[in-house]
Amino acid sequence: TMAHSEALLVLENFIGGKFVPCSSYIDSYNPSTGDVYCRVPDSGKEEVEAAVKAAKNAFPVWSSKSPLERSQILNKLADLIEHDLEAFAQAESKDQGKTITFARTVDIPRAVYNFRFFASSILHHTTDCTEMATVGCVHYTSRAPVGVAGLISPWNLPLYLLTWKIAPAIACGNTVVAKPSEMTSVTAWMMCKLLEKAGLPHGVVNVVFGTGAKAGEALVCHPDVPLISFTGSTLTAQRIMEKSAPHCKRLSLELGGKNPAIVFDDADLTQCIPTTLRSSFANQGEICLCTSRIFVQRGVYSEFLKRFVAEAKKWKVGNPSDPTVNVGALISKEHLEKVRSYVKKAQAEGARVLCGEGVDSLALPTGNQKGYFMLPTVIAEVKDESCCMQEEIFGPVTCVVAFDTEEEVIERANSVKYGLAATVWSSNVGRVHRVARRLQSGLVWTNCWLVRDLNLPFGGMKASGIGREGAKDSYEFFTEIKTITIKH
Ligand code: NAD
Repeated sequence: TMAHSEALLVLENFIGGKFVPCSSYIDSYNPSTGDVYCRVPDSGKEEVEAAVKAAKNAFPVWSSKSPLERSQILNKLADLIEHDLEAFAQAESKDQGKTITFARTVDIPRAVYNFRFFASSILHHTTDCTEMATVGCVHYTSRAPVGVAGLISPWNLPLYLLTWKIAPAIACGNTVVAKPSEMTSVTAWMMCKLLEKAGLPHGVVNVVFGTGAKAGEALVCHPDVPLISFTGSTLTAQRIMEKSAPHCKRLSLELGGKNPAIVFDDADLTQCIPTTLRSSFANQGEICLCTSRIFVQRGVYSEFLKRFVAEAKKWKVGNPSDPTVNVGALISKEHLEKVRSYVKKAQAEGARVLCGEGVDSLALPTGNQKGYFMLPTVIAEVKDESCCMQEEIFGPVTCVVAFDTEEEVIERANSVKYGLAATVWSSNVGRVHRVARRLQSGLVWTNCWLVRDLNLPFGGMKASGIGREGAKDSYEFFTEIKTITIKH
């Protein structure tokens, strides 16, 4: 269905500092109404070729600027996005389905901070030098930007994750061709309008909109793009590895998760319960770091479950632009069906759905009847082998199961293919260090969730990814190092 009252928003690619129309377009939906409201370029090889060419042309000048000059431009861009924060937040909420509150307090502030953070951190890197006095040699390392970086990002945190790649890539002196998710392209397009004002030379940042299969793959296969930074699903990452293998490309892969929260008997439940609700249901559960397996020690299991379910029922689902709403719309009709199907499978296997999908009724405002909404859902008595405990659901669904010993819970928490983020709740200092060391997980949060210092590495192990991103890690990924030896 088409929203007749509003004119359709039509996006254009941003290549060499200019907005350029495309010959064909994809419909983009407002997830909270089910209406098509935007048309996104359906780019392919030709558009990617033009963007890579523009990025290649811009590289010599951009890469030879000093870190300080680049830093000033990144800071200016941060200021410009911050100045328009409300407009960006409104657009992100409408395009993605997330609540306006989340977009205002998480997505857009973080996009601003990504630019500020790398504007600062780029000024503080040093290289190594060693001396071999006996043979009269000094050795030193030198780092240089790599070239044209291909950046591919997902739909869950659109501008947040795209800028997490663009900022370090250009801070290091690379030029980029970015391909946001075809489902959430609007805020990237809005950012393009600010680049010239920030002082960014034409061609340093190019954005090509379109699908993964066409635009994404053209970028991955382009011989003049030596590095690809990708955030998305594990399945797509496998395809990207295959397609880039003939070119031996450098890859950074940030992928899915099946993140455990481990709640010991001595946990402070007054902290643990509200935080675990957020870690399960924030952004509709559409964050790679969301908790979806909650292991609770037997002594507090029934109390935890009772309080957790009571609180989950208070989460308000509805119009994302209502500031009192906690859960917005899921990204698409297909995704909603997929998330729902996991709840049905759990029920068929004999698990108990304690609240949410299929149990409670969801009353939606009149304008949102066709939106892709779902209640926060808690499933208990589900087996570790069940697909609900093994596969990434990526929606507002979390499983709660009991455990007895520390040894047992570590083994069970590690028994999935993923290894992105884990949360441990306990007041025993010795135990949290022991457990944290043994969890197969790129990030472990103890008595908190989603507290990040961008200086430190972010990323997953096992099927959750290859490589890390952060101040030092992104710098290493986006630069090429050389060892130089001088005999005197
Ligand atoms: P996706 O893999 O379907 O798509 C991600 C991006 O890749 C999109 O821009 C898409 O168009 C593109 N793409 C798809 N096929 C491609 C191909 N063959 N070649 C090149 N590009 C292609 O993922 P999604 O559904 O958009 O996002 C959800 C997934 O992202 C979840 O698995 C989630 O866990 C993961 N994620 C991971 C992190 C992290 O940092 N680890 C962060 C957010 C999301």
